[in-house]
Amino acid sequence: MNMRVGTGLDFHRLIQDPERPLLLGGVEIPGDLALDGHSDADVLLHALSDAILGALGKGDIGEHFPDTDARYKNLDSTKILHHALDAMRKERYEISNVDITLIGERPRLHPYRLLIRESLMFQMDLELVQIGLKATTTEKMGALGRAEGLGCIASVLLYRSAGNAG
Ligand code: MG
Repeated sequence: MNMRVGTGLDFHRLIQDPERPLLLGGVEIPGDLALDGHSDADVLLHALSDAILGALGKGDIGEHFPDTDARYKNLDSTKILHHALDAMRKERYEISNVDITLIGERPRLHPYRLLIRESLMFQMDLELVQIGLKATTTEKMGALGRAEGLGCIASVLLYRSAGNAG
């Protein structure tokens, strides 16, 4: 069996903006906080998409969706994820599992963890047990500790079974 591992890391600034939705894994987290960015700034989907592209050796989402391109203003990041998944399927890989850790003080993610996993399950056509989602803080240290932003790290393991090899 051919296996590939990938890692993605992303950060976005937290802002107060009741008009802008705060999206994590495609799930809208209620409240006045939002993530700032050229796209919809879904930090979780960015880290996850980068992990998939990284496993394939196909660069990063910044190359595929440059933030200098006006077409990608407020881009729905599920489109980025599906772009990475399409690239994966083209190479005939499948996901064994993903493991994601959000890093920050706010918002409190505990109430939304299952919703986010279910959203990823639906979008990636996986079982819930294939999706790990954790949250941690930096113990109030640094910019993330001051709730100036949110970080996310994602790992993914891809496989191509023998019967599926091209
Ligand atoms: Mg990003």
